[in-house]
Amino acid sequence: MAERISTPSKTKQIIEENGFFFKKNFGQNFLIDTNILDNIVLCAGITKDDCVLEVGPGIGSLTQVIAENAREVVAVEIDTTLIPILKQTLGEYNNVEILNQDILKTNIDGIIQEKNGGKPIKVVANLPYYITTPIIMDLLEKERHIDTITVMVQKEVAERMQAGPKEKEYGALSVAVQYYCDANLDMIVQPSCFMPRPKVASAVITLKVLPERKVKTKDESLFFHLVKCAFGQRRKTLLNSLYNQGKFNLSKEELTAIITSLGWDERIRGEALGIHEFAALTNAVFDKIHG
Ligand code: SAM
Repeated sequence: MAERISTPSKTKQIIEENGFFFKKNFGQNFLIDTNILDNIVLCAGITKDDCVLEVGPGIGSLTQVIAENAREVVAVEIDTTLIPILKQTLGEYNNVEILNQDILKTNIDGIIQEKNGGKPIKVVANLPYYITTPIIMDLLEKERHIDTITVMVQKEVAERMQAGPKEKEYGALSVAVQYYCDANLDMIVQPSCFMPRPKVASAVITLKVLPERKVKTKDESLFFHLVKCAFGQRRKTLLNSLYNQGKFNLSKEELTAIITSLGWDERIRGEALGIHEFAALTNAVFDKIHG
């Protein structure tokens, strides 16, 4: 491999030579540990057959390692001041395309079609922490053709993805991840591996997107609507959350009947339900609405 971009001294040199300033609002914490970068690519299982989408290449530290191992990399970076730097640091790689865009406004399906003939791609990223959840939700809920998602996130977010019913971290993100994927915690990463150092520990997690959902429901959008209601008002009972926020026009009595027909106490909270229970609730509400 060519000289590594990610050593502390090289990173410092690139930043100083280009007069670059870190932007906190873009969640810029660059990786400066070559072992961690090698491990991320290893955990993602990248081969020369793969087309990889990278979110937020920064100065190209992770992009370089992906480019060495993959067939092709498309890296989407929002910060315009990083584009000339990336052109320079990754200049020798002809399998890298840099797009100066916001990932949440990027036509990801178009990239998958154009670069990989519509076949599933891999997503690899050291994610900007301020938009981790919207990015993951977008990748999962839109059912894009994605094989695996290997991402650096805050340790607490990785825990949230894997949390089960009644655990403190359990929420809508946990349900979405567990509905679409098998999740594997790859490693914990300390703040000293980044420049500048984040305040909290991070973790790399791999989400294997399953070809079929783990549970079948009669209406997937209703399933996610119920999940959002259940966690929107955590301190309330499931009954009150559904009554206050549900967009299905059922009376309190009808909702109570649905909850008790499923064998649950009417004071049950949404946080007690796993994906199978949410699926059962979805089907019961669906049957009630559609008579
Ligand atoms: N991949 C680099 C690394 O590991 O050193 C940088 C990771 S840094 C945590 C996150 C990167 O995402 C930054 O380069 C930031 O500018 C970029 N970014 C932030 N918001 C973005 C968005 N909405 N779309 C695309 N890139 C974004």
